[in-house]
Amino acid sequence: MNLNSANIESILNSKWNGNPTGETIDTISIDSRSLQNNEKTLFFALVGINNDAHIYLKDLITKGVHNFVVTHIPDGLEGKANFLVVKNTLEALQQIAAHYRSLFSFPIIGVTGSNGKTIVKEWLNFLLSPDFNVIRSPKSYNSQVGVPLSVLAINEQHNLGIFEAGISTVSEMEQLQKIIQPTIGILTNIGSAHDEGFASLEEKIKEKMLLFNHSEVVIYQKNNKVEQFISPKTKAISWSFADTTATVFISKKEHTHENTFVEYNYKGNVSTLEIPFVDDASVENVISCLLVLLYLEYDAKTIQNRIELLYPIEMRLKVKKGINNCSLIDDSYSSDFQSLKIALDFLENQKQHQKKTVVLSDIFQSGLSNEVLYSKVAELIISNNISRFIGIGETISTLKTKLPNAVFYKDTNTFLVHVEQLNFENETILIKGARSFQFEEIVAALAEKTHETVLEINLNAISHNFNFFKSKLKPTTKMMAMVKAFGYGSGGFEIAKLLEHHKVDYLGVAFADEGISLKTAGIKLPIMVLNPENTSFPAIIQHQLEPEIYSLKGLNAFLKIAEQKKLKDFPIHIKLDTGMHRLGFEANTIDDLIVTLKGNQTVKVKSILSHLATSDDLQHKDFVAYQINLFEKLSSQLMNKLQITPIRHILNTSGISNFPQAQYDMVRLGIGLYGVSNDSEEQKYLENVGTLKSIISQIRTIQLGESVGYGRRFMANRESRIATIPIGYADGIARSWGNGVGFVTIKNKKAPILGSVCMDMLMVDVTEIECKEGDSVVIFGESPTVTYMAEQLKTIPYEILTSISQRVKRVFYRE
Ligand SMILES: *Cc1c(COP(=O)(O)O)cnc(C)c1O
Repeated sequence: MNLNSANIESILNSKWNGNPTGETIDTISIDSRSLQNNEKTLFFALVGINNDAHIYLKDLITKGVHNFVVTHIPDGLEGKANFLVVKNTLEALQQIAAHYRSLFSFPIIGVTGSNGKTIVKEWLNFLLSPDFNVIRSPKSYNSQVGVPLSVLAINEQHNLGIFEAGISTVSEMEQLQKIIQPTIGILTNIGSAHDEGFASLEEKIKEKMLLFNHSEVVIYQKNNKVEQFISPKTKAISWSFADTTATVFISKKEHTHENTFVEYNYKGNVSTLEIPFVDDASVENVISCLLVLLYLEYDAKTIQNRIELLYPIEMRLKVKKGINNCSLIDDSYSSDFQSLKIALDFLENQKQHQKKTVVLSDIFQSGLSNEVLYSKVAELIISNNISRFIGIGETISTLKTKLPNAVFYKDTNTFLVHVEQLNFENETILIKGARSFQFEEIVAALAEKTHETVLEINLNAISHNFNFFKSKLKPTTKMMAMVKAFGYGSGGFEIAKLLEHHKVDYLGVAFADEGISLKTAGIKLPIMVLNPENTSFPAIIQHQLEPEIYSLKGLNAFLKIAEQKKLKDFPIHIKLDTGMHRLGFEANTIDDLIVTLKGNQTVKVKSILSHLATSDDLQHKDFVAYQINLFEKLSSQLMNKLQITPIRHILNTSGISNFPQAQYDMVRLGIGLYGVSNDSEEQKYLENVGTLKSIISQIRTIQLGESVGYGRRFMANRESRIATIPIGYADGIARSWGNGVGFVTIKNKKAPILGSVCMDMLMVDVTEIECKEGDSVVIFGESPTVTYMAEQLKTIPYEILTSISQRVKRVFYRE
């Protein structure tokens, strides 16, 4: 990147506060967790609706970053670094990217559409990289922020770009068009319904087509709704299964269980193509790629040879449990330099052990010479404080001189032969390699062996939901995130770690041991223990946990230990019973409480809280009002008599939604964080966090009159295909979910559960579903949702989520 502080000043038309004379900028960052090359980083402090990166600047300056683009200089930082003050930091980032893009004149493919963008981008990269030095968006970086960051990674050696653009509402595409300036446009599947954010399907298409305003060609599935928005200067290349006037007419669609065969007619020549997929979406995405290859004048034979090698795309970084208490970050399908940076950020953010290990293959298609490329890699590895580095491949051993403690193997097999001697233990291991290295074998060798059922947790969704609730509150209101019951079944440590990054004020757990395991894993946030047993008080004190005190008996027991240990101002939380009648001081014990606490120096009342019994049910709003009034009265009494100003809090998730006027100084967010609201309107704004997945173990066909499972509770009334899934009631799937009540989702279709759910397995009907053994099965997630399951099973989502057995592996990922 050849930008320096002076031309940034002129592009943004603003003056530096500070003196960065002529400094070159080689990294643009917006993520305070990035640790790379701080000296030459220009950090953009982005301001979201709920998130303001200006709060991270102080930390970043300590880490050595000294150039910032900001909307204002935070208090006390003037003179400590160089600041370029602009009105809108996101627009500034976009302006820099648009300027930077216009310095290059090679072909750029721009991809947009409702579905398939990332897959088409990744496949095109695979198909074209034998002939081009391709730069592409890493992962699914397609947003107002992701697109500029992707484009800024172009360098002089690249000669083809592939970037995706994703929008959620009108007026966003204009910006992305200026940044990508695609010469070749692809519109992937546009979906049939109009999404939220657009008034109509037509408006959505019109907005998306803006990306191609100045393109030389646009590729799309033939559709006159699309054609009306193609500018006259742009060449239209369409495909169709039905319309013979399309540029490429595709006929004869046949498929086996694994492949689809098509015939396509292009410029009067008919050719056949074998596509290694059977589902409609993949076939359409392959056809989009086919049209690009035809436009670039590839011959039918080369096209066939390359397309038959296409593979399913794994777009996420996954965290898995490894052998010997290791954690694995599985990024075994990509090795480009851009995504290495992202993966290292993720490693830093997720590190669950002091020791960080990277296993990396040769890097291809960086556009740089090996010498320059691996110098950059070495810099990244060093600045990220990687404890051990393992290189696999021919070219990566160039790093030998730059990383003296690293070890190298010529190929994956040689590594696997030596894996025992490497003594992997208590470390977080990033496994990242080009596809040809088959690092999935390394992941398999290092992963803890469990069965195929996993609960996948989307960390981005948790961030989203956290920010959603935060935006409903006054900016000064503090937040306690409830991570009791192993984060509502979703994983305690990983979620606590993420919340720490979001600067949540408090964590809440039910029992002392939950808090202890978070503290010993390195969580620094204050943690309130809702239900401390008297026997756990010494451990609570030792681990600096903060007990909720709900009775005089408990208070006296705690005070006794606190006095023995000569504590001073140890934080405690006073729970009041205002009507829930579960735990807490009742009105008639307040006087005694005051007498006991008056003048006591060993403890300090950090907060006063109560809990609502009916915040989720507006039929009981009078009762909520009664509880809030009583809380106001009792807490004021305590505050006046004891002359204290503690944090007061009473709202849980549905309290935040329904009674925001009672937010006091803090709220306690629980189920909402995990993507569940009891209000169907609000539910639309939350993102699904947990997806419980398994696979098909076996498929069989049974005849009319045959039965399935224990007690022959299902009788086939036709010839049926039955799939067995290795998940049962021992994993937390209610038995009552069987026998025609529940379903699982396979290939986006509903497969009803047949007969009773067994201890470790269940059987489903896949007669109407094109699927095979080993295919993925969704037990809950987007469909069925946990809320739907709870309704059918006459329970609440909390119970479903927290029932999933600990033997089900949790896998965390970030999109
Ligand atoms: C669990 C719990 C919460 C969070 O409740 P949600 O309904 O999940 O938001 C808040 N406060 C207390 C005391 C709790 O036990």
